[in-house]
This record gives sequence, structure tokens and C-alpha cells, in this order.
Amino acid sequence: MVNAEAGAEAGNVAGVPAGGADIGVIGGSGLYSFLKDVTEVRVDTPYGQPSDSLFLGEVAGRRVAFLPRHGRGHHVPPHRINYRANLWALRSVGVRQVLAPCAVGGLRPEYGPGTLLVPDQLVERTKARTQTYYDGVTRADGVEPKVAHLGFADPYCPHGRKAALAAARGRDWDAVDGGTLVVVEGPRFSTRAESRFHAAMGWSVVGMTGHPEAVLARELALCYTTLTLVTDLDAGAEAGEGVSHEDVLKVFAANVDRLRSVLFDAVTGLPKTADRDCACAHALDGIDTGVELP
Ligand SMILES: [Zn+2]
Repeated sequence: MVNAEAGAEAGNVAGVPAGGADIGVIGGSGLYSFLKDVTEVRVDTPYGQPSDSLFLGEVAGRRVAFLPRHGRGHHVPPHRINYRANLWALRSVGVRQVLAPCAVGGLRPEYGPGTLLVPDQLVERTKARTQTYYDGVTRADGVEPKVAHLGFADPYCPHGRKAALAAARGRDWDAVDGGTLVVVEGPRFSTRAESRFHAAMGWSVVGMTGHPEAVLARELALCYTTLTLVTDLDAGAEAGEGVSHEDVLKVFAANVDRLRSVLFDAVTGLPKTADRDCACAHALDGIDTGVELP
């Protein structure tokens, strides 16, 4: 299944098969484990180690790099994920467009378990995560990033969202088009008061991993699209005991096959990398960050 054969290099990463990968998928092993000819590549970055190796394979003629967000065996909790290393590693093997599924809680009764929602907005309520590459802090390798302020009004790629929604509908999954994902620090779930507050603000779903992934992708001029799978109704939206981790895993497992089908169809619906014309692709135009991207 996994071969360690060394191929040509993409960027400065050894062992990457010729051509690298131009699409990245951040998600668990259930998404790539059955692909043929997967090449495992270890990537080191100026920001440390990513959550795991990258797994490069082909989906319908497109080269895709998979990265298990929590590592194999799910050992890295949301607040300890090295998001900077993860996005940097993907870009290092050639990735320019990222699809990022994640599990969330529904903040409205109509968004029950099994709902697929492709958000168009984001609210960040994390507390202790590094959110930028351009922080003016000299890296271990001596590179001195400048401070940069990027536009982030629309955090998700319009082309990626369109491809994700079309793919879901093609699989008879009536995905919700748009909504606001609020990202909390975790690892605990919300209190009822927090959950009611999130719902009262008009936000749609709550998760723990969608940020700073989104902004770091933007800082590397990557297209980024998240697909949220509702695994539970959040505490304020239900009368019972609240969310349990067991329920979350159960619902995710029940939906992983169709989520994989949707992701693979979405991959084929993404524009060619050379044709990208969205704001994500031009995020760094005219900005001197002091950092050379891989
Ligand atoms: Zn884009």
C-alpha cells in the first residue's frame, strides 16, 4: 500500500513522486487508506513537524496529498495541532488548493447529525494558537518574517465551495450552502450558555479545528475550503446530556464513506491550479512578507 520509493523532488522535499500534488486534503486515514499506490512522505518544516507524514496518491487523474490532521491514531488534540507546519508541508509538495473536512456540532435544531454544511464565514474564538507566519519573530533557520496584515473578509475559496456543494448534490447529500463556523479552543465541548450564545449570534456550527487552518492557508496563498459534518447537536440546541466524544466518532464513522465520495468528486471539480483566479491565489500580491514560500 504505502511505498517509500524515492522519486523526483517537488520543491525541496525529497521522496516526493514526480509532479508532487497540487490538491491537499486534511482529514483522517479513512479518506485515503484504500487508494492504490500511495506514497508516504515525511516533511520537515521551519515550524517543526506536521501532524503526520503526507500520503500522496491519485484521485481521478489529480495528484492529491492527504494529511491526517490529528495524526495516525488520532493522538494530537485540536489545540496542540501544529497548524503552521501542516499547511507549510502541504505547500512544500506542490499543494495550492486544500479541502478540509471537519466534525462540528450543529447550533440549530435543523442541523442535526449527518448534516453537511459548507460554510462561507468564520468566527474565531480560540485562545492560544499561533495564527500567522508573518509575526516578525526570527525563525530557527534565521529567516526574518515581516509583519503582514492580509485580507480575510471571505475566508473560503469560492471555487472550492462550489465544487464541494456540487459534489455533495451529485451524491444526493443536500448540503447546506453557507453559514458561519465558530471555532473554539477545546478540547472540551461548550457549556450550554456558550452554545446558546453561539446560536443567538446567528452562527451555524461549532468546531475546534477549522482555525487557524483557514487563515494560515490564506497566508500561504492557498485556496481553502472546509466541509463541516455535523456529528451532534451542540449543548444549547438539545435538552439531553450534551455532546459526548463517543457520539461524535460514531456519527463520523457512519458518514465517512459518503464524505470520501463527496471529497473525491470535489477534487475533480476544482479548477486547474494554473487557472486559479480567486482572491486566495492573490492574497500575497504586493506584500513583502520577508518569507520565501516553498
Ligand atoms: Zn481560491
